[in-house]
Amino acid sequence: MRPIAIMGAMQEELAGLRPHLTGAQTITVGSREVTSGTWHGHNVVLVLSRIGKVAAATTATALIERFDVKEIVFTGVAGGLSPQVSVGDMVVATEFIQHDMDASPLFPPLEVPLYGQAHFPTDINMRQSLQIAAEGVLKNPSQWIHPDVLRALNVHAPKVHSGLVLSGDRFVATSLESQALQQRLPLALAVEMEGAAVAQVCHDYGVPFAAVRTISDRADDAATMAFTRFINEVASRYTFALLDAWLGQK
Ligand code: SAH
Repeated sequence: MRPIAIMGAMQEELAGLRPHLTGAQTITVGSREVTSGTWHGHNVVLVLSRIGKVAAATTATALIERFDVKEIVFTGVAGGLSPQVSVGDMVVATEFIQHDMDASPLFPPLEVPLYGQAHFPTDINMRQSLQIAAEGVLKNPSQWIHPDVLRALNVHAPKVHSGLVLSGDRFVATSLESQALQQRLPLALAVEMEGAAVAQVCHDYGVPFAAVRTISDRADDAATMAFTRFINEVASRYTFALLDAWLGQK
């Protein structure tokens, strides 16, 4: 049975997942620790991609070439861009754009050269099942996170959104930059640093890909503080709940 790959960018997000794999074994490939095992009867490989597009692309390539994974799901955190997207919400990506890609005037801004496209869609079946799992988790968030923590982080009635997500090699942490991204790409729900790279690799290999991001910050002047707190207190528990529900229903 070809494994399902689960990728995450940060150690804190992934650390909580490893103990849930049965028969876990870890090997190192290309400086990445890949843990394989089973979860709800599925063969799974779990890997920390590290941060940014290059790290994510090499990790995805290694997963496909060395582990013959049948699909890749990326879970992690992101900064909210659209005014409707708040800290504690989840975003299921329907497609990705690299917001820092610009080979103009040779190619249109945002278009990935020689691909003829800027948008890289995710797999429709995977994202539909992840949406259902995410809605299940957020229906009762205090089952996973202590209500005091949710209150302190200002998380009330969190929602699941689906739509465009941006990736680029920048931690967006000023209101100015966040507004500029929204003006340029008004449909963008969130911004992060890896998804579009994995989407491009999966497009090259014909491997189904999906991504779910929990909103850790609003990509604004308060982003750094919000981000650190969120990672430690919320993100890893949400990620576990999401994947446990998703693999359990699969
Ligand atoms: N200070 C952190 C930096 C993490 S970079 C550290 O020292 O580890 C932020 C990570 O979270 C990336 O993996 C990215 O995908 C995601 N992310 C969350 N909020 C983001 C934002 N506002 N802009 C860009 N990426 C964001």
